[in-house]
Amino acid sequence: MKISVIGTGYVGLVTGTCLAETGNDVLCIDINKDKVKQMQEGVVPIYEPHLDVLFERNIKAGRLTFSTSLEEGVSHGDIIFLALPTPEDEDGSADLSYVLGAAKDIGKLIKDYKVIVDKSTVPVGTADKVTQVIANETQVAFDVVSNPEFLREGFAVDDFLKPERIVIGSSSEKATELMERLYKPFVRSGNPIIVMDEKSAELTKYAANSFLATKITFMNEIANFCEKVGADVDMVRRGMGTDSRIGKRFLFPGIGYGGSCFPKDVKALHKSGKDNNYTFDILNAVIQVNDTQKTILLPRIESYFDGDLKGKTFAVWGLAFKPETDDIREAPAIYIMEQLLEKGANITVFDPEAMPNIKKRFGNTLTYANNMYEATKGVDALVICTEWSIFRTPDFDKLKANMSQPVIFDGRNLYDLKEVEHQGFYYSSIGRKTIA
Ligand code: NAD
Repeated sequence: MKISVIGTGYVGLVTGTCLAETGNDVLCIDINKDKVKQMQEGVVPIYEPHLDVLFERNIKAGRLTFSTSLEEGVSHGDIIFLALPTPEDEDGSADLSYVLGAAKDIGKLIKDYKVIVDKSTVPVGTADKVTQVIANETQVAFDVVSNPEFLREGFAVDDFLKPERIVIGSSSEKATELMERLYKPFVRSGNPIIVMDEKSAELTKYAANSFLATKITFMNEIANFCEKVGADVDMVRRGMGTDSRIGKRFLFPGIGYGGSCFPKDVKALHKSGKDNNYTFDILNAVIQVNDTQKTILLPRIESYFDGDLKGKTFAVWGLAFKPETDDIREAPAIYIMEQLLEKGANITVFDPEAMPNIKKRFGNTLTYANNMYEATKGVDALVICTEWSIFRTPDFDKLKANMSQPVIFDGRNLYDLKEVEHQGFYYSSIGRKTIA
C-alpha cells in the first residue's frame, strides 16, 4: 500500500518505518528541513532501540523515503497518517493547531480519495473537526479515521510490530477495511483490532494514559505515606501487585511521571471534562500530586545540607524522562536541576542518551561528564532521576572514593537498603526508611 506519514517524530518515524517493514511504500513528511536531510542521509534523528536496523533496511529497499513537501505527501499516500504534535495549550487543552493546520492544507491538495488517519493524541470530537476542515476546502471524497497510538518510547518498535491491540475509530466501511488490511500483518498472533466509532477511539487513548498516570500517582502517595508510618513501599508493592486484579506493572514509586504524553494527556482530558460540564476530580488530584512528587527530593536534600545549597556540588544520574530514550520532555530531572541551580548548587550530569538534548536546554550551566563515575568526582551528593540499567549495580567503592561525602538521593529506588547501609552510604529513597 502507498502510505504517507505527516510529522516524522517519535511516533511518525516509528510508524513509517514499521509500515515499510511489512512491504508498504512509505513517504515520511516533516517541516523540519534539517531532520529530513538527516534522514535522507540515512541518520536516525532519535534514539529508539532497534529502530536503526529497520530504518536502514527499508531505506535500502526503497520502501522508506523522506520529504519536506506536503504536496508530495498528499499525492503519494492512499492512507495519510497525521503524527503531528498536540502539545499542551495555555489552558491545559491539547493544541490542535498542527493537526487542523495540516488538515486544511491536505484539503487544498487532495485530488482523489484518501483515508486521513489521526495518529496524534487528540480530544474527543477532533475527527469531526478534521473532517469539517478538509471538507471546507474540497469536493473530493475522503474519510477520516481515528487510530490512536499506544507505543511506549524505549519499546516503540516492539510495541508497533507486536501491538497488544489496535484501535480503529471509523464510521466508514471502506476506510475500516483498508486499515484492517494495513494492520493485519501486525496481529498475526491473535491480538485484536478493535473497531469503534471515532469519539470512543479518541477517548480510549486519553483514558488509557490517564489511568496509567493515576496508577503511578496512587503508588507515589502510598510511598509517601509509607515514609510517615515506617512501612516499606517495596513490600507493599509486592503484596499488592500479586493480586491479578491489580497487576505488578506500573506500581513502582518514584519522582513522578513525565514525558511528552502523560502530563499533557491527563491535563487535556481534565480540560475536556470541563468543556463538557464534567469535573474529573480524580485527574485534578493526579495533576497536583504529580507536581509535588517531581521535586519531592528537594526538601530532603536541603534539610541534609542544613538549608544551604550554595556552592554544593551534585552529580545527577539520569536525565531522560525514563530509561531507553533520549526524550527529556517533562523529565523530573529538569525540575530538580532547575531548583538546585536556583539555590546556587553546581551540577555534573550523566545520561547514556539524553546528554545532547539536555545540553541544548541547559547549555553551560551544567557540567557534562563522559561516564557515570566521572560525574561523581568530588560531589557532595548523588541524585538519581532515571532508572537506566547501568546505574543499578554500581561499584560502590569507586563511588565512595570519588565523592566528597557518601550521600545518595535516589528518586527511583535502585538499591537494596541493606546493601547501601553495608556500604556506608547516607541513602534517601522513595517510600522506604532513610539510611543515615
Ligand atoms: P514529536 O514532537 O516527536 O514529532 C512531531 C513531528 O512533527 C516533529 O518532527 C515536527 O517537526 C513535525 N511537524 C510539526 N509540524 C509539522 C507540519 N505542519 N508538517 C509536517 N511535520 C510537522 O511528537 P511525537 O512524540 O511523535 O508525538 C506525536 C503525537 O503522537 C502527539 O499527539 C503525541 O501525543 C502522540 N503520541 C506520542 C507518543 C510518544 O511516546 N511520543 C505515544 C503515543 C502517542
